[in-house]
This record gives sequence, C-alpha cells and structure tokens, in this order.
Amino acid sequence: RHARRATLTLKTEPKAGGTVMRDYTKFYIGGEWVEPAAGAKTLDVINPATEESAGKIAMGGKADVDKAVAAAKQAFASFGRSSREDRLELLGAIMGEYQKRQDDIARAITEEMGAPSWLATSAQAAMGMAHFNTAMEVLKRYTFEEPRGTTVIAKEPIGVCGFITPWNWPINQMACKIAPALAVGCTIVLKPSEVAPFSAYLLAEVLDAAGVPKGVFNLVNGDGPTVGSAISSHPDVDMVSFTGSTRAGIAVAQDAAPTVKRVHQELGGKSPNILVDDDGFGEAVSRGISGVMMNSGQSCNAPTRMFVPAARMEEAKTVAAKTAEGWAPGDPNGNSRMGPVVSETQWDKIQGLIQKGIEEGAELVTGGTGRPDGLDKGYYVKPTVFANVTNDMTIAREEIFGPVVSILGYDDLDIAIEQGNDTPYGLAAYVQAKDLGTARDIARKLRAGQVNINGAGVDFTAPFGGYKQSGNGREWGDHAFAEFLETKAILGFEQKQAAE
Ligand code: NAD
Repeated sequence: RHARRATLTLKTEPKAGGTVMRDYTKFYIGGEWVEPAAGAKTLDVINPATEESAGKIAMGGKADVDKAVAAAKQAFASFGRSSREDRLELLGAIMGEYQKRQDDIARAITEEMGAPSWLATSAQAAMGMAHFNTAMEVLKRYTFEEPRGTTVIAKEPIGVCGFITPWNWPINQMACKIAPALAVGCTIVLKPSEVAPFSAYLLAEVLDAAGVPKGVFNLVNGDGPTVGSAISSHPDVDMVSFTGSTRAGIAVAQDAAPTVKRVHQELGGKSPNILVDDDGFGEAVSRGISGVMMNSGQSCNAPTRMFVPAARMEEAKTVAAKTAEGWAPGDPNGNSRMGPVVSETQWDKIQGLIQKGIEEGAELVTGGTGRPDGLDKGYYVKPTVFANVTNDMTIAREEIFGPVVSILGYDDLDIAIEQGNDTPYGLAAYVQAKDLGTARDIARKLRAGQVNINGAGVDFTAPFGGYKQSGNGREWGDHAFAEFLETKAILGFEQKQAAE
C-alpha cells in the first residue's frame, strides 16, 4: 500500500512581498491529482490580513463530483471490507505524515482564514492530529459485532460519505469527519469551504503520502450550490455530513431527501454562559470573554451570551472590558493574540450587528464599529462587549460570528436558565459556579449538546453536536463512528450446525 504515491507538482509564482501564490487548481480523485472537467473557473482565495489573493483554486462542477463519487464507490468495494488491523496501520501512517506537515498546515490556515500563528499551531492544526489519534484509540476497542442470543447485531460501514465543511476551524472540521470515517472503512468525497481551501489541499497530500488506497479519499473544490449540492443529491453517496450555517444545512437536507440518505448536520449556535454569584465571579467573566475572543469569535460553540447576577453587572463590565482589551487584533503572522475575521462579507455582517446593538439600546462597554486604530488593511474587528443586553435584542438572538459578547443581567437563576434555553439553537452551553452541586443542576437544565462547567478542557472522546436547530447527530469519539455505520441484525447467526 505504501509504495503508491501520486506526485503533485504545484506551480508557485513568487508574489510581491516574498510570499508565494498557491496554485491549487487540481482535484484529488482516484488517488491522482487531476485537472477539473471542462469549463471550471478559478477563484482567488483572499488572505484576510492583507485583503490580497494568496492563491487560487478551481471551482468544479457536477462532472467532477460524479467522477469522485465513482472512484469512492469503486474503492468502497475493497476498503469497506478491510480489516481493523489494516485500518489501524493506515491511521498510524496518516498521523506520521500529518506530523511532518503540521507546521505547513498551520501556516495555510493563517493565510486562508486569518487565525494568529499561536492559535493556528497549538489549536487549529493540532486538532487534526487529535482526531486521528482519537479515531485510532476508539478503533482499537470498538465492538463491530455484538451477539444477542442467536442473533448478531453487526455494525458495517455505510459506504460513500460526502463531506461539506466550513472555514472557521477548517482542519478540525475535516479531520473530525475523515478520521472516524476511515477508521470504520468508509470512503470519502470532500468539498471544503471555498473561502479557506488551502489546508484541505495539504490534508489530501498527507493522506496520499500515508498510502490511503486509491479512491478512498477524494477532494473536489467548488461552491455550495454547485459542488455541495451535487454531493448532497448524488444517488451513490450514502450519507452526507455537513458543517456550516443553518441556511446551507437546510439546503443539504432538502437536496438529500429524494435519495433518502442519512444527513448529519453541525450548524450554528448562540451559546449561553451562566455565571452565579460566588467568589469565582471575576475569573469566570474573564474566562467567558476570552472564550469568545479566541479565533475572533468565529466558533460555533462560542459562549456569546453571558448571564450574570444583575447586582454584579458593574463588576462584570469592568472585568469584561479589561479582558476584551487584552485581545488586541493584529497581524496573524506575528505575535498577535487575535487575527482578522475571515472575509469582507463577515466583516460587514459583524459591523451591521454591532450597529444594531447600539441602536437597540445595549450598553457598549468596549469596542464598537469601525476598524481598530492603526489597522487600515485587513478585516479586523474591535473586540466588543455589550452590557445590559435584553433577551429580545438582535445581538442576544442572532449568531454574530465575530468578537462580540452580550452580557445579560438576571435576578432569578431559573429565569436565566430559561432565557439561556430560549434560542432556536442548542449546540453548547457553559456554567460557572464553584459549588459543584449548583453547577451540575444548571448543566442538567440547559438544552444543549455539550455543557462545559468551569472552563473544563477539550475532551476529544466526548460527543460534539447540537440540540434543536444546531444540528442532527454527533461527531467526535465513539459517537462519530456511529454516524458512519449501518446496523445489521443477522438472525440465526448462532444455531446448531446441520449434520453433514
Ligand atoms: P456556509 O454554510 O455558507 O458554508 C459552509 C459550507 O457549505 C461551505 O463548504 C459551502 O460551500 C457549503 N454550502 C453553502 N451552500 C450550500 C448548499 N446550498 N449546498 C451544499 N453546500 C453548501 O457557511 P459559511 O459561509 O462558511 O459561514 C456563514 C455562516 O455559517 C457563519 O456566519 C456562521 O453563522 C455559520 N457557520 C457555522 C459553523 C459551525 O461550525 N456551526 C461553521 C462555519 C460557519
């Protein structure tokens, strides 16, 4: 298996300023880097820190998807029957290759979506490795056949999986699907975000170098309504796993409906963070603010609605302002704590929502509209905190996807919990309370797929996914395996062997 290598020679043109333009106009199909089908256009990928093109991709079409799905279907015939040992070996090889390219991947993420170097390296790129490692650990102990009397309940790979992913945590969102899908023996057609497609290219190189068999992994670039829709509606795609906006998630489900395929959706969020009145309050406010500012607020599970006891609103404002101002935006290639937001579209949307907060009467504590001082180029947003926000204000209801926090005051904890749950979303929720009994009680009452108590660290084996309009299904760990498996009951599996 490891003997086969597709050779990719990327054309690179030196650009003014010494950086290199990435020419990523091929697709990876059937184990080869191939030209797109006739008629494909190219798209410039804009570096959000410079507002200039950092390279280009080809925008594929239905013919490219057809070719990729055919390769994946053919590969499934053998990969779907591969042994656990072979797949463990494959995941190990992927981790080895990934490690070699991890710094390149981090740099690509900084270029394509503006994550500052520290975050791109220690979190964004590192999460890819963590998902492959978790998939390997789960695979070692996973039960694929379970006897129940004379019946056996078998778990089998579902087949060809279509993956459509966003730009905000690009490698994390691809790897958390690809790793478990490969672990159980599925084959893949990936369409990454056209806004941040560079890291996907590097991941394809990693998988190729690791010896992933021909056709098991395929990459086609393009836009959602064309390539995304061709994947969702394809009769030979057995399931589609989507991460992105609720709007596009609905389109995926609608496109998938006529072929009755399984649809996994990981959508938006507007996560509540409930703080109680205790002596950990200041630290809890600071942690909550930083939880939003990280990645410039572009995380679906960001704790964007902070509920504080009304009597401590003034203290919350002082701590929040100080913490937010510590997240000064700047060049993501340097030592900045916070980079720009991903695109002009997102910058405009965030500005509009900040303006709306001001107009609707929320108290602007720090930040606000306009570019931060001294940053005339790049899609930088001022770290912004609003206080005395009420639950009916637009900034308390809509996902902003920028470095903006809304602080809401409460007199009655039960009402805070009720308002915390009063959203169409239910991806994540947060509780800050030193008394564990209280914290657990609040956690049980919050309607969200993941509740985090007192800043607990990331758990890659814990399920990740949403209640309500935040999605369907769960990713990460054992739960991710279940998304990519079919269930088969074999009756009479155990019986007396008939006499010869
Ligand atoms: P998006 O939903 O537009 O894009 C996500 C992916 O879906 C991309 O690959 C895109 O090309 C594809 N897509 C778009 N329309 C499609 C369609 N009709 N059929 C199939 N695929 C389609 O999201 P975005 O532009 O990346 O970000 C916009 C908003 O989405 C953000 O402001 C935020 O609210 C939300 N978002 C949520 C998450 C999350 O993890 N929950 C991640 C990214 C973005």
